[in-house]
Amino acid sequence: MTLARGAVLAATLSLAATLVLGGSVPARAADDNSLDAIKKRGTIKIGVKYDAPPFGSLSPQTNQVTGFDVDIARAIAKKIFGSPDKVELVQVKSDNRIPLVQNGDIDAFVATATITPARMKTIDFSNVYYRAGQSLLVKKNSTIKSYKDLDGKGVCSVQGSTPEQTIRRLVPKANVVVFETYPECLTALRGGRVDAVTTDNVILGGYEAQDPNNLELVGGLFTFEPYGIGIRKGNTSLTKAVNDTLADLKKSGEYAKLHQQWLKKPLPADFNQWYDMPAATAADQFANQKPG
Ligand code: GLU
Repeated sequence: MTLARGAVLAATLSLAATLVLGGSVPARAADDNSLDAIKKRGTIKIGVKYDAPPFGSLSPQTNQVTGFDVDIARAIAKKIFGSPDKVELVQVKSDNRIPLVQNGDIDAFVATATITPARMKTIDFSNVYYRAGQSLLVKKNSTIKSYKDLDGKGVCSVQGSTPEQTIRRLVPKANVVVFETYPECLTALRGGRVDAVTTDNVILGGYEAQDPNNLELVGGLFTFEPYGIGIRKGNTSLTKAVNDTLADLKKSGEYAKLHQQWLKKPLPADFNQWYDMPAATAADQFANQKPG
């Protein structure tokens, strides 16, 4: 009796030990996101958005994802492999891009992501490669002119985005509706379910450009959103390659060309103040700003 019970206990303990040890097995080769592993694999896996024109959206002509972020992803592949085509583009959304980098499913994302102190606790970021600001998109005849007019109004944003958190904080009496992607917010705006959509000015501008007779950007830019490329924590070899790519893009004039192509305007006068800013500085500036 005692012996049998002892045997069961031993078996249970050894099963428990197996489970514990199983959890500490080193990461599979497929999860190695170092620059060396990427080079051995022959392609880099980069997350991009499909819901954020002109940074990342499906081209109606080709059904391929295109945009400013996509071209930066290709430039990273060119820097590492000598060919912009050695990139596997993976669709990400605001809410899943960080977990996908954390678990190694993608090596990096170039996905309209603001560098914030909270995000920097979970992943690393490249230097700043774009500066956006939160704004509002409304129907043309709307009475809303600023975020200050949103008390009691319906405003849509995307789960896991900084504008979602900011609007809740700035306008506690707004009726915030969230979806996984921005097109769902646009449908809600068109259908009259919400009075405004809020996110970065450039993304809203991408949607306004598709329907300028009915939609309008209002409220100016009320935050500073410094964009960085997300990389797994501690992956310094890849972060360096990405930062080197950003420096090259500026030096060669390629960044200015891409800016003109996708945003239809030349570089802004304050370009040198934020481009290549270290991620830690950008996160501090994001946290210490006074929206207005
Ligand atoms: N830049 C903001 C963010 O990182 C909004 C854009 C987005 O949802 O990706 O959350």
